[in-house]
Amino acid sequence: MTARRLDGTLVARQIQDELRPLLDALRARGVRPGLGAVLVGDDPASAVYVRSKTKRCEELGLFHETGRLPATATTDQVLAAVEAFNGRPEIHGILVQLPLPPQVDAQRVLDRVLPEKDVDGFHPSNVGRLVQKRPRFVPCTPAGIMELLRRSGVELAGRRAVVIGRSEIVGKPMALLLMHADATVTVCHSRTRELPALTREADVLVAAIGKPGLVRGAHVKPGAVVVDVGMNRVADAALARELVEPERLGEFERKGYALVGDVHAAEVGAVAGALTPVPGGVGPLTIAMLMANTVKAALGPS
Ligand code: NAD
Repeated sequence: MTARRLDGTLVARQIQDELRPLLDALRARGVRPGLGAVLVGDDPASAVYVRSKTKRCEELGLFHETGRLPATATTDQVLAAVEAFNGRPEIHGILVQLPLPPQVDAQRVLDRVLPEKDVDGFHPSNVGRLVQKRPRFVPCTPAGIMELLRRSGVELAGRRAVVIGRSEIVGKPMALLLMHADATVTVCHSRTRELPALTREADVLVAAIGKPGLVRGAHVKPGAVVVDVGMNRVADAALARELVEPERLGEFERKGYALVGDVHAAEVGAVAGALTPVPGGVGPLTIAMLMANTVKAALGPS
C-alpha cells in the first residue's frame, strides 16, 4: 500500500469537537439539540446504524429518541411516527432509517419530514436548495466526504472528479457538491459503458456502488484520490480473503462476515495517491455530519 490513508475517524472527531462551543451556546439558551430516529422492522444493519448514531448523540450530550415500528407497519403508521416527531419542539432533527420495508411508500414518508427538521437532507425542498447552491441540510455522507477532502488539502477547483453511483443519498448530491466546488464532474452508473476508461481520468474518484471490490487498480489514475463509500457485508470466505486485510481476517472468522468497501483496497492502494479505508473512512464522517446537522437545526435559521 503506497496510498496515503485518509482517516475518517480523525476528521469525524475534529468535526464533533468543533460542535462543542455551539452546544455550549445552545445550553446557555436552555436548548439541548434532539434527534428523533424512525426505525421500521428488524434489519440488523439498520439497527446497528441507528445504535451508532444514538451512541454518538450520547457522547455529545444530545437528546435522542427512537420510534420503533414492526416490519409489518403500513405507510400511514410510519407517517404518523414522523408527524409525532414533527410536532415535538424538543426534537430538532428527524431521520428515517432506510431502507423501509417494501409495503411502505418511502418517498411519501421522506416528504413528510418537516424541511427544517430534515437533517438527512432528503426532502425535495432541501434537495432543490442544494441544486441551486444555497443549501440548508446537505445529505450527510457526501457532506462528510467534502469535509474530509477539504481538511486533507485535496484541491478540487479545475480538477476532474468522477462519481460512480447516482443514488439520491450519495452519488447525485456528491456530484452536485463537487461541481459546486468547481471540479469538472462525470457521473457513472450501472449503464455506463467503458467504466475504467472514464474513471482513469479522475483526479478524485468517489465509489458509491454497493458492489464489494468493484473498483480495481485498472480503474484508477496513478496518484488519484479515491473515496470508498461502499459498506458491504461479505460472508463468502474466498471473497473476504481477497478483499480484507490479513489483520482483519480473525474478525471475519469470529463474526462470519466482514465489512468491505466498493474499492479493491490492495490493488487501488498501490496505484492511488490517497484512499479512504473501510471501515474508518466515510462511515464515521456520515455520523459526524448528522450530529452537525442536528446542532444546526437546533440553532435555527441563521
Ligand atoms: P444504491 O444501490 O442506491 O446506488 C448504487 C449506484 O451504483 C446506482 O446508482 C447504480 O447505478 C450504481 N451501480 C451499480 N452497479 C454498478 C456498476 N457495475 N458499475 C457502475 N455503477 C454501478 O446505493 P447507495 O445508497 O448509493 O450506496 C452505495 C454504497 O455506499 C453501499 O455499499 C452503501 O452501503 C454505502 N453507503 C455507505 C454510507 C456510509 O456512511 N459509509 C452511506 C450510504 C451508503
